[in-house]
Amino acid sequence: MVAPSSAISPEHLLTLIRSGAATSRAALSRATGLSRSTVAQRIDALIEAGYVREGGVGTSSGGRPPAVLEFDGSRKFVLTAAIDPSRLVVGVVNLAGDVIARRARDIRVADGPAVVLPLVEAELRSLITDSQVNRSSLSGMGVSVPAPVEYRTGRPNEPTIMPGWHDCPIREELGATFGLPVYVDNDANVMALAEYRSLEPEVDHMLFVRATDGIGAGLILNGRLYRGAAGAAGALGHTSLDGGSALCTCGNVGCVAAVASGRAIASRLRDKGLLADTAADVMNLARQGERDVTEMLRQAGRDLGRVLAGVVNLLDPGAVVIGGEFSEVQDYLAGIRREVYGRALPLAAGHLQILKASLGRDAGIKGAAALVAEELLSPRPVLDSLITG
Ligand SMILES: [Zn+2]
Repeated sequence: MVAPSSAISPEHLLTLIRSGAATSRAALSRATGLSRSTVAQRIDALIEAGYVREGGVGTSSGGRPPAVLEFDGSRKFVLTAAIDPSRLVVGVVNLAGDVIARRARDIRVADGPAVVLPLVEAELRSLITDSQVNRSSLSGMGVSVPAPVEYRTGRPNEPTIMPGWHDCPIREELGATFGLPVYVDNDANVMALAEYRSLEPEVDHMLFVRATDGIGAGLILNGRLYRGAAGAAGALGHTSLDGGSALCTCGNVGCVAAVASGRAIASRLRDKGLLADTAADVMNLARQGERDVTEMLRQAGRDLGRVLAGVVNLLDPGAVVIGGEFSEVQDYLAGIRREVYGRALPLAAGHLQILKASLGRDAGIKGAAALVAEELLSPRPVLDSLITG
C-alpha cells in the first residue's frame, strides 16, 4: 500500500535508504508513490543537510545508471552524557555511531542534580571546544541515567540510587543550555540500542542485561526498543527469587538485585571484613584472587540465570547480551549459561545465543547517541523541522 504523499516525511525516505529497501531516486519514487520531482527535491534537501550522500552507480534497466543513495552518518553529531553512580562519561558521537571525542570524570550521582548537572554541562562545553565540532552540525543530545525514566517526560522516577533526582527536568535544563532536542533514558535501554546495532539484522529480538551496582535490562523486540506503557520495562533486578530473604533497595524482600547485584555482593564482602562498596570494588577483589569473591560471583551468575530463564521462556529472544563489570568474569557467565540453558524450554533455548557485550567503556555514550539517532531518523516528523530550519 502506498501512503498519501503528505504522510511521507524525509524520515520515510531515509528509512528506505538506510535499510537498503530503495537506494535510488527512481526506486524511492516507486516505493512511496511520490512523483520523481518531489523525490528529487527531498533528496536534494537531505543531501544538503548532510544526512544522505551519493555513492557509486547502480545497475540500470536501460539508459543512464542511477546514482546510489546512502545514509551519511558522518557529518552530523550528537552530544552524549552517560551518568553512572560514580562516573560521568560525555562524548561527541556521529550518527553512524563513531565516537569523535570523549571526556570522563568521577562524580557522585547521589549529590543530586544541583551538583551533577552543572558538571555535565561544564564537561560538554569543554568537549565541544576540544573537538572543534561546529555547533550547526549538532543534531541533538542523548543522556543515560541509572534509574527508571518516564520516557514521555525524560524524568527519573523514584530512583533508588539517585536521591534528589525524582522528577528532575533533565531534558528542559540541558535543552535550555545547549539549544538542542534532548532525549533521556535508562542506562540499560540505551546500551541495548547500541549493542543491538552490532547484531541486526541477524537477530530480531534481544535482551540486554547490565549487571553492575544494580541489575537492569533493555529489551529489543522486532528491532525496536520496548519500553512498556510508561518506560518501566526491563526492571529485571526486582524479580523475586524463590526463598530470597535479603532486603532490596526497592523495599521488597528477595529481589535478585538484593543477592546478585554489585551492591549486594559488596555488602556481603563488608560483612567478611573486606573493603567494598561498588561493583568496581568487587571486581578489584576478584582480580586479586579473593576466593570468597569468585564463589559469590559464580553464585550471582546462577541466581541471575534462574531469573533470565523465565524471561527467555516468556519472550523467546534470539540473543541475551550481558554487559556491566561482571560480564568480564568467566564463572559468572558460566553460571548464567548453565541456568538458562538448563531451565528454559528447548524451543526457546535451542537457538538462543548468550553473549558478552561488545562495546566496553563507551557503551553508555554510544547508546545515548543511538537513542538520538532512533528519534531523529525514525519515520516521525522531527528531521523535517531540522532540515527546513
Ligand atoms: Zn527490588
